[in-house]
Amino acid sequence: MSYIFPPPVTVSVPINGSDESFPVNRIYCVGQNYSDHVKEMGGDPKKNPPVFFSKPADAIVTNNADVKFASETTNLHYEVELVVALGGGGTYIAAVDALHCVYGYAVGIDFTRRDLQTEAKESGRPWDTAKGFDQSAPISSITPFGDDKYLGDRQIALSLNDEIKQDANLNQMIWSVSEIIAELSKFYELRAGDLIFTGTPSGVSNVSPGDRIHAVIDGVGEVEFGVVS
Ligand code: MN
Repeated sequence: MSYIFPPPVTVSVPINGSDESFPVNRIYCVGQNYSDHVKEMGGDPKKNPPVFFSKPADAIVTNNADVKFASETTNLHYEVELVVALGGGGTYIAAVDALHCVYGYAVGIDFTRRDLQTEAKESGRPWDTAKGFDQSAPISSITPFGDDKYLGDRQIALSLNDEIKQDANLNQMIWSVSEIIAELSKFYELRAGDLIFTGTPSGVSNVSPGDRIHAVIDGVGEVEFGVVS
């Protein structure tokens, strides 16, 4: 069989300490997973379970490449997040077994057109244009985790132009990595190559062309890039 035009290139993420790459299947995201961020968005953290949404695989930006300021927004927000990289999958995965599916972890940015997201929330419309746009998911290299895939207490932080804007701990997540995998696998068959952005702590704000972002999770990864017009 031949194709009518060249098929899309497989999106991949570099792996720390390896010449091999992690091929990306799908990108899932969790909303409202740190109580202080839920509060700053005007919500009640105990009221609703986290929401799931997705980004296309080719929204990934790797190797600290510059990110173009998104079209059709005047309020482009960064959100620093732990990213789970799956090396296995399944459906209806039990939380106690869920970490077996994890290959490793990275740090990523869930870029958001906040103005479009606010309009979507108010009108009860989908979040796709607010979340799933081109270059909306810059990510660090993936750090493989061997036998012990439990991250425990780790700092997650983001600086904008060398000023710390987000500074939290992974232990503040409302839903743990295991619980997220278990819940997500009820709705989708998870597969090796899936990435899961697990939600952001408080301190989100807007960027402008010329800004530089530096995000880090202790012992997991680091990403640094510029926003360009
Ligand atoms: Mn997010």
